[in-house]
Amino acid sequence: MKIESTVSKNQQNNSLNGFSTEMIGDDHLFTGLETPLKKDAFKLSDSEKKQRISVLFEEIMDVMGLDLTDDSLKGTPDRVAKMYIEEIFSGLNPKNKPKIALFENKYRYNQMVLEKNITFYSNCEHHFVPIIGKAHVAYISSGKVIGLSKLNRIVQYFAKRPQVQERLTNQIANELKTILETEDIAVIIDAKHLCVSSRGIKDDTSATVTAYYGGVFNTPEKIIELQNYLNH
Ligand SMILES: [Zn+2]
Repeated sequence: MKIESTVSKNQQNNSLNGFSTEMIGDDHLFTGLETPLKKDAFKLSDSEKKQRISVLFEEIMDVMGLDLTDDSLKGTPDRVAKMYIEEIFSGLNPKNKPKIALFENKYRYNQMVLEKNITFYSNCEHHFVPIIGKAHVAYISSGKVIGLSKLNRIVQYFAKRPQVQERLTNQIANELKTILETEDIAVIIDAKHLCVSSRGIKDDTSATVTAYYGGVFNTPEKIIELQNYLNH
């Protein structure tokens, strides 16, 4: 059975400044704040998506010559489909967005709150291999405070998408700005991309750091203060 790609080549090349995807090769690019989703992204139910992904993944394995009747392999298409929809890409679906309760800032605490070393696992949208990293998230209350574990949940939600680190950083920052009604947000992400370490250039020691400094965090004093806390 031959499956035609539903995306035409012309459509792919429009936004690449005249470069073809082949010319861009392994260079990671990032086209906007929003994850590029189709308008009908949620037309299929989760169980319909799992069924379809299982069929398609079985096809990939079959094309590679793997024997799908082998006891060890036969459950793999279903396992991959379930993992994609329910776990590692569950953050694509807005219904999985964490429900956030805010509280009044009764303590009148008016300095930064920093949640550091939030471990996350994401996947590079260019190669579909893991991005493993730590996020550090800080805010200064404009009157509302958020449960600390919710900062962690917001990071995990946006990480569970095919991602680009720059976009992940900005999506977390944007969400926090909206929820906490303040510009005073900082997000720093330090991550290892397996598409850089396990294949391609095969550099196992490099890591990628991205940062968002909004409002008062975008001042040398606050950046130094934040860095001091992170170095503790
Ligand atoms: Zn990649």
